[in-house]
Amino acid sequence: MKEREVVIVSNRLPLSIKHDQGVAKARRSSGGLVTALLPILRDKGGVWIGNAGTHEDEHATELLQQEARNEGFACVPIYVTEQEDRNFYEGFSNQVLWPLFHDFIGECRFEPAYWEFYRKVNAKFADAVMSVYRGDQTLWVHDYQLMHVAAALRERGCKGRVAFFLHTPFPSYDVFAKLPWRRDLLLSLLQYDLIGLQTERDTRNLVSCLRRLVPEAVMTSTHTAHHVMFQGRRIVIQDFPISIDFEEFAQAAREPEVEERTRSIIARMGMGQMIFGVDRQDYTKGIPHRLRAYGALLRRRPDLVGRVRLVQIVVPSRQNIPGYEALKARIEHLVASINGEFTQPGWVPIHYIHRSIPREELLALYRAANVALVTPLKDGMNLVAKEFCATRIDDHGVLVLSEFAGAAAEMYRGALLVNPFDLEGVAGALEQALEMPLNQQQERMRKLRRFLKHANVHRWVNEFMQVIEHVNHHGSTRS
Ligand code: UDP
Repeated sequence: MKEREVVIVSNRLPLSIKHDQGVAKARRSSGGLVTALLPILRDKGGVWIGNAGTHEDEHATELLQQEARNEGFACVPIYVTEQEDRNFYEGFSNQVLWPLFHDFIGECRFEPAYWEFYRKVNAKFADAVMSVYRGDQTLWVHDYQLMHVAAALRERGCKGRVAFFLHTPFPSYDVFAKLPWRRDLLLSLLQYDLIGLQTERDTRNLVSCLRRLVPEAVMTSTHTAHHVMFQGRRIVIQDFPISIDFEEFAQAAREPEVEERTRSIIARMGMGQMIFGVDRQDYTKGIPHRLRAYGALLRRRPDLVGRVRLVQIVVPSRQNIPGYEALKARIEHLVASINGEFTQPGWVPIHYIHRSIPREELLALYRAANVALVTPLKDGMNLVAKEFCATRIDDHGVLVLSEFAGAAAEMYRGALLVNPFDLEGVAGALEQALEMPLNQQQERMRKLRRFLKHANVHRWVNEFMQVIEHVNHHGSTRS
């Protein structure tokens, strides 16, 4: 069988324009997804379609396309206007779908204009796809910003195989049902041939929403997937938990610069232990809850005062969206109040860093930490949990992980699972982690690393691609 070319569609291109001393240059972004998808595009040939992240500009298009060619693929940049960005990206994507899918109904703003622009901008992406579509490529659309692309493609006559992967969670019916456009959004989704989600819980949630809101769809399940018959087409719904490039992290952790930084962090910590947290500044990450749990730990274990530190990195994110700035103020208030309560000369309980950090520094912090504290209130997967383990080439360190992170479904055997809303429970898990004997740490960490070495992001891409190749489309038989 001839290999089909692939078209990847994501909100942002894996390339961006940077200005270096006044000169614009296109650069490839880093990140596991890009690393995993580029080999597929290079091998099978293909195109990546996404937002250029700048204003419309012929020169930018040329720069991006040249850089993509250097990297062995083709790209089609999309330009969205400020009005589209406000309504589609900041509006429907990040003030409707993001909070709704993470169970934060209070952060949702159900503005009708947002929905209108969402469909309009998704149609713009579909137009870009049609500009390169020859009828035989495999189309793979990514994430919550682009759930309506397949529907727009069908309106434009595309009968090809279109797959979708949702990187966020999918909520339960009770939450999803609050969306004013709930049935329309599900009907849009049903225009895909394959819908990939992070965990089994997400697939069950989507299936139960379909049962209630699209009763005419006929559903069956096997042990690996759910199948939906709808308007003469068969749609497959399956979980594909995303992962990281394990080997790449494990190797990078050994680099001399990372070794050197790790040693220097450990030396600066003295005899004490270090708890480490790193998150985007997002209300889903549970940073205030985590800080309060750490405060509770110090209150109930005064002997830990002076002997343990929390290093918390908060990476600024989505600063134009209401709610995100208020979160910053809340975090800073809690940091100040806990530090005010417990600091002693020569020792501060929370080291708070509000910026992104270089990769070598992040890896060194993973390596130097005694405990990684990963406590999102809800998260599609959470790659930090996986990166921490991949970096622990010494097999030491304990992962305290929220049961509401997608990663918990796979990592429950090696991590200490917590309910992030239960402050005393998190404080208790921290005590257990800080006191865990080395042999138990090793046993848990080895389990986690063995699992991640196998379930890496390359396997994720290959499995997804294999399933796409075998799904039916438009009622046709398997090819
Ligand atoms: N990260 C980063 N810059 C930093 C700190 C972290 O790019 O200064 C990365 C980190 O390595 C991880 C990602 O941000 O790959 C966070 O992914 P995760 O799935 O945990 O959460 P998301 O931010 O996607 O919700």
